Amino acid sequence: MAEGAADEALLQFLYRAPVGLIQTTLDGTVVLINPMSAQLLLPLAPDGNLDNLFDVLQAVAPGLRDLANASASPGDLICDALALRIPRKNRFRDEPHTLALHMTRLDDTTLMACVSDITASEQREYDRLEARLHGEKRTDPLTLLANRTAMLEHIERALGRLQDDPGYQFVVVLVNADRFERINVTLGQSAGDEVLRLMGHRITAAMAQRSQSPESPGALTAMAARLSGDEFAICVDASERDSAAADDFAHRLVSALQKPYVIGDGTVHLAASVGLVSSATSSQDAGGMLEHASLAMREAKRLGGARHAVFEPGLLQQARQRGDLEIGLRSALAEGQLFTVYQPIVDLLDGSVAGMEALVRWRHPERGVVMPSEFIDVAEATGLICDLGAWVLSEACRQLVAWQSLLGDRAPRTISVNLSRAQLADSKVVGRVSQALTAAGLRPACLQLEVTESLAAQDEHVRARLSDLKELGLALSLDDFGTGYSSLASLHELPVDVVKIDRSFVSPMETSAHHRVLIAAVVGVARSLGMRTVAEGIETEGQATLLTALGCNKGQGYFYSRPLPAEGATAWLASYESPFVVLKVKEPL
Ligand code: C2E
Ligand code: MG
Ligand code: MG
Repeated sequence: MAEGAADEALLQFLYRAPVGLIQTTLDGTVVLINPMSAQLLLPLAPDGNLDNLFDVLQAVAPGLRDLANASASPGDLICDALALRIPRKNRFRDEPHTLALHMTRLDDTTLMACVSDITASEQREYDRLEARLHGEKRTDPLTLLANRTAMLEHIERALGRLQDDPGYQFVVVLVNADRFERINVTLGQSAGDEVLRLMGHRITAAMAQRSQSPESPGALTAMAARLSGDEFAICVDASERDSAAADDFAHRLVSALQKPYVIGDGTVHLAASVGLVSSATSSQDAGGMLEHASLAMREAKRLGGARHAVFEPGLLQQARQRGDLEIGLRSALAEGQLFTVYQPIVDLLDGSVAGMEALVRWRHPERGVVMPSEFIDVAEATGLICDLGAWVLSEACRQLVAWQSLLGDRAPRTISVNLSRAQLADSKVVGRVSQALTAAGLRPACLQLEVTESLAAQDEHVRARLSDLKELGLALSLDDFGTGYSSLASLHELPVDVVKIDRSFVSPMETSAHHRVLIAAVVGVARSLGMRTVAEGIETEGQATLLTALGCNKGQGYFYSRPLPAEGATAWLASYESPFVVLKVKEPL
C-alpha cells in the first residue's frame, strides 16, 4: 500500500473507530480528536470547547493533569480504565453515563487518550451482582433453602392468588425441632448445624413425595424455608378436598424428622413438632399466617412434641389466657400467692407415713385456688419455674424440719419435691438444692426429688446432673413411670432410687389383669435393681391391698389423704393411725 493510501486508511480508522481517540500535548492541548471522542466528551463541555482535554475533564477527573505531569518517561501509563461518571440528560430523563479513560504518555511531547462508553457493560455487571445479592438475601446459607424473607414473599404471593381465585387454597406448615438446644450444648455447634442441614433435606424429600402423591394431583408450587435456628416453614398448595392430605403430609413430616440422624460416628435422636395452618382458616397477612402456624406448632409441643397440630381460632384465645397467666404468675411469686400442699406417702407394709409430697398451688385473687396443671407448663415455658421450684423446695424443706421438731416420731421420714425439666437444665440447680437444705437445716437423706420419666431418660447430660444431685446425699424418684418413653429395659440406666408407678396403671388395676401384670413387672424389675416403688393415685382399699400383695413398697393417693395445706397436713399427721390390715405376702402374685 502506498504511503498516502496508508495515511488515508489510518485517518478513516480514526474517524470511524467506535472508541474515542485523542492526542494531546503534555499540557492537554488537543492535537487530534476523532468524532466518537467529541460525541462522548461534549456533555462535559456545554460551550462545545474541546481545546484542552484536562479542562474538559476537570469536573470529573480533577487530578488528571497532576497525574500526567508526574509521568516521567515515554510509555508511562497515566491512567487505566479510569471511570468517569457523566451526568447526562436527554429530553425526558437523567441518563448518567460512565466513560472509561485510558491515558498513556507516548513521548516527550505527546499524550494519547482513549475514551469508551462502558455504561451498558457496567449496568450488566451491576444487574448480575444485584441478582446474586438478591438471591443471597433470600437464601439461608446453612441449608441453602429459602429464608424467612423469601417465605414471607411466597405466602404473600399465595395470598394474592387467593384473591383472584377463591377456590385456591394453601397450607403453611411450621416445623420446630424438640429440645434442639441440647444438641448444640452436648455435641457442639457444628453437629447442630449438620442436623439442621439434614432436617432441611428431609423436609424437601417429604415435599417431593407429596407432590408426587396421588391424593394431591393439583399440587402446584411448594416452598421450604429455614426461618431461624431450628425453625423451618413450608408452604404448599392444597385443593379443597385436601385437608386429609395436608394432615397426612404433616404426619409423614413428623416421622421423617424423627428418624435417627447420623452425625460423624454417632447417632442423634431428635423429634420435631409441626404446626399447620390452612388459608381456609387463617387468611391473615403472611406474617399472621406464620404466627398462626407457630401457635399450632407450640400446641403440638405442649402436647408432648413429636406430633403435629392444626391451627384453630380457639388456640388464639388459649394463647391470650396463657399470656395473662404468665403475667399473673410473675406477680403471684412476688406477692406470695403461691402455697404448698402436702400429700402423704404411706408405707404399704407397716402402714407408717413414709413421706410427704409437696405440691404447689396458686391462690389467685379472682379465680381462687389454681391447680398446677394450669400453670406449671407456663412457668416452664417462661423460665419462671426455676424461681417457683426453688421457692417450693425451700418451703418443703422448712416444713419437714418444723414437723420433725413439732411431731417427733410422727413426722414423715422424707419430703418429696417435684423438679421440672427447666430446673434440671439450669446449671445452678445443684447449688440451689444444697442451699435450700442448708438454709432449712435438713439432712439431705430426708429429701427426695421427683423427676419425670421422659426427662430422666433424655440424655447423658441430664443423667450427669442427676448424679450430681445424688452426690448431695438425697434420693431421686422417677415420677409418673409408664407415661413416658423409657422402658423397663432401660430403667437400670437411670440413677434413681424410687420408681413412682403412674396413676393410669393403678386406677384400672382392680378390673384389669393386664395392668396388674404391668405393675408386677415394674415392681419386680425395680426390686432387682435395688429401687423402691411407690404407687400413685390409690383411691380404694382394694387397690391398696392389691398393690401390697404385688410387693409395691409405698402408696400415695386420695385413699390415704388428698393433698392438704400445711396446717391440715400437721393435724393429719398428728392424728394418723394406720387404718388398714397389714398383709404379709412372701411372693408377689
Ligand atoms: P405429680 O408429681 O405426679 O403429683 C401427683 C398428682 O396426682 C397431684 O396432682 C395429686 O394431687 C394427684 N393425686 C394424688 N393422689 C390422687 C388420687 O388418688 N387420685 C387422683 N385423681 N389424683 C391424685 P397435682 O397436685 O394437681 O399436681 C399435678 C402435677 O403438677 C404433679 O404431678 C407435678 O408433676 C406437677 N407439680 C405439682 N407441684 C409442683 C411443683 O412444685 N413443681 C413442679 N415442677 N411440678 C409440680
Ligand atoms: Mg410428683
Ligand atoms: Mg406423678
